[in-house]
Amino acid sequence: MDAKPLIFDLDLPDLAQLFLSWGEPAYRAAQVWQGLYSHLWEDPVEFTSLPNSLRQKLDAYLTFTRLKPVQVLESGDGATRKTLFSLPDGQAVEAVRMGYARRRTLCISTQAGCAMGCVFCATGQMGFRRHLSSGEIVEQVLYYARQSKSAGERITNIVLMGMGEPFHNYEATMAAIDRLNHPKGFNFGARRFTVSTVGLVPQIRRFASERRQVNLAVSLHAADDELRSSMLPVNRKYPLDELFDACRQYAEITHRRITFEWALIREVNDTPTQAQLLASRLHGMLCHVNVIPLNPTRNYAGQATTKERALTFKSELEKYNIPCTIRLRRGIDIQAGCGQLATDEKKARKLPA
Ligand code: SF4
Repeated sequence: MDAKPLIFDLDLPDLAQLFLSWGEPAYRAAQVWQGLYSHLWEDPVEFTSLPNSLRQKLDAYLTFTRLKPVQVLESGDGATRKTLFSLPDGQAVEAVRMGYARRRTLCISTQAGCAMGCVFCATGQMGFRRHLSSGEIVEQVLYYARQSKSAGERITNIVLMGMGEPFHNYEATMAAIDRLNHPKGFNFGARRFTVSTVGLVPQIRRFASERRQVNLAVSLHAADDELRSSMLPVNRKYPLDELFDACRQYAEITHRRITFEWALIREVNDTPTQAQLLASRLHGMLCHVNVIPLNPTRNYAGQATTKERALTFKSELEKYNIPCTIRLRRGIDIQAGCGQLATDEKKARKLPA
């Protein structure tokens, strides 16, 4: 690990405190903050409004990058771009930019690997390596923000759905969101973030109590405990009754709509029976269901559902007035499912990083 602290791990008051300890005026922190998050500068030499002595200190005592892009893949239609980053301790994480219609959505990682072990997920199959720091989460966004800026575009949405379970790394995840949301810096609206969890009940309750304006998505994938536990080990700890109890509490406290994510696996969880069970569980809740055909992974035999079965599942939910959207699998040709690039580097088509 780089011995120097990562500048993106610091909040504005931390930076001001650090500058005071260097004998520099605290107001310099705001200048640096603006350089980092508004101008998207990535090297101390770019901070030309600062005295040379301060730029030298920044360079000597802090690092401005910990994520090194080592592989960049773009889908055939150019709409999805995925980057694999290496970290100084040898870990790898990935982030994806998806551009469809007017949306420019980033999907970013919160951990290297993941402890949750969902059977169909490439990241789950690699196991837990470590939590990312808040700055390492922020840096993924700034990397893509710089590219978007050069292309005259803006990022419209950020989803924390890449490698890792964000609520398992709760503090760093929320610190990263707060830093990116800071009005004097990147100023990315809270409502344009979505945090996705596989169902960590205590953290859902905590998230609800904090009344953040950030969107919540819950990966569900099954509506009965037996099936869900066979796919998502976390369900043995937090079974569906407890999970839905926490979700209902979240909706009541925040008045915000929860999105339930459902990867449709052929003849496993894409049946009308599962749709009916799901509808009964969601009855009366402020929610939306996103279904997406499974992204195949090397170590899981399940197959993606068919278009017809997906449509039947959706119409079954709609019979019970549960809103449902069928999402398209984006970037299959670049292994855009979370963890697929980090676990399958040999198969990926390499472009200059
Ligand atoms: S689906 Fe999400 S929570 Fe489950 S193993 Fe993969 S990264 Fe972890």
